[in-house]
Amino acid sequence: MTQDAIKIEALKKTYAGSKAAAPKDALRGIDLTIPSGSIFGLLGPNGAGKSTLINILAGLVLKTSGKVSIWGFDQDVNPRQSRAAIGVMPQELNLDPFFSPREALDVQAGLYGVPKGDRRSDEILELVGLSDKANAYARTLSGGMRRRLLLGKALVHHPHILVLDEPTAGVDIELRQMLWANVRKLNEQGMTIVLTTHYLEEAEEMCDEIAIINHGEVVARDSTAHLLGSIDRKTMIIEPDAPTGVFAAPRGIDVSVDPKGALRLSYRASETSADAVLEAVRGAGITIRDVRTEQADLEEVFLELTRSR
Ligand code: ADP
Ligand code: MG
Repeated sequence: MTQDAIKIEALKKTYAGSKAAAPKDALRGIDLTIPSGSIFGLLGPNGAGKSTLINILAGLVLKTSGKVSIWGFDQDVNPRQSRAAIGVMPQELNLDPFFSPREALDVQAGLYGVPKGDRRSDEILELVGLSDKANAYARTLSGGMRRRLLLGKALVHHPHILVLDEPTAGVDIELRQMLWANVRKLNEQGMTIVLTTHYLEEAEEMCDEIAIINHGEVVARDSTAHLLGSIDRKTMIIEPDAPTGVFAAPRGIDVSVDPKGALRLSYRASETSADAVLEAVRGAGITIRDVRTEQADLEEVFLELTRSR
C-alpha cells in the first residue's frame, strides 16, 4: 500500500512580533503531500520557511493554523502517534554536554517511551560511526561527531519517517558521504526521508521528488526529473569553424564567447526555436563545426522559481 507519509494542508505560521521585530508570516498556506518510501527534498533560499515547516512536523514549533498528518495521524487528534512516526535531525546542534552518546540515546529513547528491551543503542552507534565514542562526553565530540549523534537520536524510536534539516551544511566531504550512505541505506530499508539542503547538486543526486519553498509558499513540487525538464532557459553551445567574437543576435538570444572560443547562445525555449538560434548564427556568417546543448541543472530551476518578481 502506498500512503502519504506526510500530508500538510493550508499550513500557516506567524511568529509573534516583539519590540524589536514585526510579526513574521513564515508559512503562508502550505499544501504538500510527501509519499511514503521516497527521498524528498525541501529546497528554498535562506528564510524561506524550511526549518519552520520541519519544526512544526517535529512538534517543536506550534502552527498558527492548518492541518498536519504524519503517517495518517492528525497531529491535533493523535499527537502521540504522529510524533512516534517521525524522527527529526534538527539544524541546530542542541546536545546536552554532560551526556555520553550512549546516555544521550538512552535519554531520547526514554522520552519516546521505547521499552528498555527494544532499545538498539549499540546498533545505532555503529550505524553513525560512534561506537568507539559511546562513553565519551558530548562536549569532547567534534562537530561532525555531534551531527552524527543527532542523527542517532532521531532514530532511537524506529520512526517511519526521518527528517534531516540541512544535515550537511558546513560538514566535511567524508562526513557528508557517510551521512548520505546512511540515508540511502535507511531508505532502502523502507524509511521515508525528508531533507533540506543548500547544495542543489546534492538534492539533484539524492532526491526522487522535490518541493521548492519561497517566502513561505510552495512554488514548485515535482519529481526531480520533471523539474529539470521544466526549465525554459536553454543554452546552445556552438563551436565555430574559425575564431569569432560576439555578434548581434535577434532579440531573445543572448550571445557570449567562452574562454575556449565556443559561442554560448542562451534563449527561452518557449519564445525562440533551436532552429532560429542556428539561423542567427549562420546569418552572422559563422560556419558551425559542432553544436551541443547544455542540460539545465537544479540551480537554474531554483533561480528561475525563486527570483523575486
Ligand atoms: P529557512 O529554514 O528556510 O532558512 P526559517 O524557517 O528558519 O527558514 O525562517 C523563516 C522565517 O521565519 C525567517 O524570516 C525567519 O527570520 C523567521 N523566523 C524563524 N524562526 C523565528 C522565530 N523563532 N521567531 C521569529 N521569527 C522567526
Ligand atoms: Mg533552516
